[in-house]
Amino acid sequence: MTTDTTTQGTALADEIREGAGAVVLDQVAKSFRGPTGVKMVVRDLSLSIRPGEFFSLLGPSGCGKTTTLRMIAGLEKVDSGRIFLGGVDATDLPAHARNVNTVFQNYALFPHLSVFDNVAYGLHRQHVPKAELRHRVMEALALVHMDGFAMHRPQQLSGGQQQRIALARSIVTRPSVLLLDEPLAALDLKLRESMQEELKRLQRELQLTFVFVTHDQAEAFAMSDRVAVMEGGNLVQVGSPEELYLRPATRFVTTFVGRANFIPASLVEGFSASSPDEVASRQLSESPDGEESVGAEPSIFVRPERLRLEIGDSSGQIKGPRVRGTVADKTFSGGQTIVRVKINDDVELSVTCDSASNEARDASIGGAAAVTWQPSDATLLDR
Ligand code: ATP
Repeated sequence: MTTDTTTQGTALADEIREGAGAVVLDQVAKSFRGPTGVKMVVRDLSLSIRPGEFFSLLGPSGCGKTTTLRMIAGLEKVDSGRIFLGGVDATDLPAHARNVNTVFQNYALFPHLSVFDNVAYGLHRQHVPKAELRHRVMEALALVHMDGFAMHRPQQLSGGQQQRIALARSIVTRPSVLLLDEPLAALDLKLRESMQEELKRLQRELQLTFVFVTHDQAEAFAMSDRVAVMEGGNLVQVGSPEELYLRPATRFVTTFVGRANFIPASLVEGFSASSPDEVASRQLSESPDGEESVGAEPSIFVRPERLRLEIGDSSGQIKGPRVRGTVADKTFSGGQTIVRVKINDDVELSVTCDSASNEARDASIGGAAAVTWQPSDATLLDR
């Protein structure tokens, strides 16, 4: 973690003691032995997921998200550290003794069983009486709007419908935590978006804790109360989507969760190393993600929608930090137009403008332009 680890460690220890977290990971580590030797896949991961929270693990392929989820489920043993579920140390409990269920990307339905029997499977294993079983299965199917399909076979259903059945099957046994491993990845974009809304609704209605794994930032942001960003087996930052987007802790988070502009400080009119606050209201003093330094020069990070464009004569009217260049490109995308401004051979900035604005209309390729911003919207990176 990049933020105050001492405070965080103490808060986490408190949550473990008080059993406040639905899922608490305390310095969990995992490695696998492969052809090239032992590889650390998850390093000293500590986090606390609150009861009833929609929590996402977000990161690029291979960063350790699924392994983390599988350790919570009990499908993978930890090398070190502890896992608490509902305040109880579950580290050494087998998967079937943990009150969690997992929904996988590939649905994993039994093809020879009807929808009803697929959903009823876990209840049969728990020897739930017949009348109650029937009631609970139909209730779960109704929750995912599939009660009219009880006698269908999985292969008679679309991908989205099969995923709904997988969801019904995972909630029918009333787990306290539902783990979801890229459950929407196999669906096309439109269906995925409507399933995102449904998952969120279901989570709200059931007040269940959801732990959702995805590499899709938009998906994580659309659904989650909080998101943990992972990189190379490390937890880099935990926060609400707004916090991650507006206050990213590292350069990696900055670029992973959205479009970012990095402006070398030397190009900014009025920048002075002694008064950096005039161009950036917040400083990042280090880049703990281990990325290669792009020279020693500090740079300023601003999101495209926080930049203001000035075209031709209007240039200089807005007070504040400023860089000058020429319009390199203009892309209309409905309500917004992205204007790219070339500052020099190495630096081009993206500015999001309202398509109806004078700036969007007047920006012509090759024409002079300036880019400004409010210091409070900028972050100074020290390299
Ligand atoms: P993806 O989004 O691609 O699923 P992920 O972030 O979920 O990625 P993991 O599946 O947790 O990543 O894998 C993390 C790393 O651990 C990868 O390099 C993967 O190859 C390796 N790994 C995972 N499971 C095993 C295993 N059983 N044996 C050996 N290596 C493994």
